[in-house]
Amino acid sequence: MARYTGEACRICRREGQKLFLKGQRCYTDKCAVTRRAYGPGQHGQKRKKMSEYGMQLREKQKTKSFYGVLEGQFRKYFEMASNKKGVTGENLLQILESRLDNVVYRLGFGSSRPQARMLVTHGHFEVNGKKVNIPSYLLKEGDVITLKETSRQDAIFKENIAVNAKKAMPSWLEADIENYVGKVVKLPARDEIDLPVEERLIVELYSK
Ligand code: SF4
Repeated sequence: MARYTGEACRICRREGQKLFLKGQRCYTDKCAVTRRAYGPGQHGQKRKKMSEYGMQLREKQKTKSFYGVLEGQFRKYFEMASNKKGVTGENLLQILESRLDNVVYRLGFGSSRPQARMLVTHGHFEVNGKKVNIPSYLLKEGDVITLKETSRQDAIFKENIAVNAKKAMPSWLEADIENYVGKVVKLPARDEIDLPVEERLIVELYSK
């Protein structure tokens, strides 16, 4: 599938906030948002007054960038969210959170969502004992994610596990990454998703 392959930090600078696309670097003072807290390009330092439509559009773009999802798939998720019971914006975030690449990142097997996507694509994970290499695979309550036995000695996992073994886990996930396993205890409610996104603006945009 086509995917934005440009400079990740440029996306963060355009959105004016950290999207955590580059693993540990994002937590250091090398982060481009920390070093240059203005937009990219020739006119990046000019202050722009944004219209209501502009704000809605930026919120959608930011959310897509957080999860690394392109427009067509994002629109599909929105339709799924609208057809589900409950609040559409919250349903949308819940669907995005339940993607396999996001859960691999949240569990600590990947240092960023882009890296987690690459690791899933390379076939390192099993869901309920079966290999799944589709980053957009949507997990359900009770699903168990395991790092394949043959991948456990890979340096990338040793490093990620060492860094993330003690990290706080979202309440809707259970992890024992030192034993290479994680579980979706339940799908997350809005207050369990720590994403600085106003999903209401996305709903307003798509409802025009
Ligand atoms: Fe974004 Fe990370 Fe780059 Fe900082 S280092 S700008 S958070 S991708």
